[in-house]
Amino acid sequence: MKVLLLGKNGQVGWELQRSLATLGTVVALDRNVSNGLYGDLASGQSLRATIQQIAPDIIVNAAAYTAVDKAESDKDLALQINATAVAAIAEEASKLGCWFVHFSTDYVFDGEGDTPWQENDAVSPVNYYGTTKLMGEQAIAASGCKYLIFRTSWVYGVKGNNFAKTMLCLAADREELNVIADQIGAPTGADLIADVCAVAVRKALIDPSVAGVYHLAAGGFTSWHEYAQLVIDYGKSMALPMQVKVVNPISTSRFPTPARRPLNSRLNTEKLRQTFSIHLPEWRGGVTRMLKEVLEK
Ligand code: NDP
Repeated sequence: MKVLLLGKNGQVGWELQRSLATLGTVVALDRNVSNGLYGDLASGQSLRATIQQIAPDIIVNAAAYTAVDKAESDKDLALQINATAVAAIAEEASKLGCWFVHFSTDYVFDGEGDTPWQENDAVSPVNYYGTTKLMGEQAIAASGCKYLIFRTSWVYGVKGNNFAKTMLCLAADREELNVIADQIGAPTGADLIADVCAVAVRKALIDPSVAGVYHLAAGGFTSWHEYAQLVIDYGKSMALPMQVKVVNPISTSRFPTPARRPLNSRLNTEKLRQTFSIHLPEWRGGVTRMLKEVLEK
C-alpha cells in the first residue's frame, strides 16, 4: 500500500506522518521539492506529475491555506491552494482509481442557530477561506474519485501555533484578557484527527461504500472563552509565571476581524462515529494532554 501525504508539516500533517505509517509506505511531502517530487499546491502541473509518478493507492491532503483573515485579501493564493489544486488532485485520483482523503471545515456553514451541523445541512460560508474550502469539497465530489472528506473545527497540535499557546503567551504578560464567548465549537486535536483518519481509511479500503463527507471533532462543545480559561488554569496549576488576573468574556461584535467567523461551529459527529465505530473523546482531555506535552518540553 502506497500513501502520498501532502502538507506533511502542518498540525494535522505532522500527526498523519505517524498514523498513516501503519497503512503502508508513506511518501510525505511539503511545499519544497524533495528527490524530484513536488508537493507544492501552488504549482498544479508539477503536482500532477508527481502524483502520476508515485501512483499512490491513497492520497491524503493535509495542506491548506489556513490563514482565515489573510485569505480575505490574498484571494488568488487561497483559491489556488484550497480549491484549484484540490480539484487537480481529485482529477488525478480519479484517473488512478485511488482514494483521496481531504480535510475541510465547519466554516462551510453560516454559523446560524445552535444545532450541531449535519453533513447534509445547507452550506453557506461567511468568509473567503470557507468559500474556498467549500469549492475544494465540491471539486472532489464532482471528480468521480473515491473520497473521504473530514470537516473538522478549532484544530490544535503540539507542533505549530494554536489558540492555547497564544493564550499562554498573552497570559504571561497581561493582567486582563478579553476572549470571545459567543462562538461555540469543539477544540480538536490534530492527533485525534490523524488517528481517526487512519481508522476510517482502513475501513474504506475494505468497504468503498463508506466514501463521503464526515464531521470529525472532539466530544462536547465550548466557547473560546471557556477554552482560554482552561488553558490559563492549567498554566497556573503548573506554576507558570503569569500576570493574568481576569479573563473577560466578550462578544464577537467587540472583536472585529477581516474575516467573519460563524458563531455556531458545533459539528454533529454521529455519522462518523456510527460508520467507523469510533468513540470521540471529550475536548478537555486532549487539550490538557497537549498542554502537558508543550509545557513539559
Ligand atoms: P496548518 O496551517 O497547520 O497546516 C497547513 C499546511 O499546509 C502547512 O504545513 C503549510 O505549509 C501547508 N501549505 C500551505 N500552502 C502550501 C502549498 N502551496 N503547498 C504545499 N503545502 C502548503 O493547518 P492544519 O493542520 O491545522 O489544517 C489541516 C486541515 O484542517 C486543513 O485542510 C484545514 O483547512 C482544516 N481545518 C483546520 C482548522 C484549524 O483550526 N487549523 C479548522 C478546521 C479545518 P508550511 O508549513 O510550509 O506553511
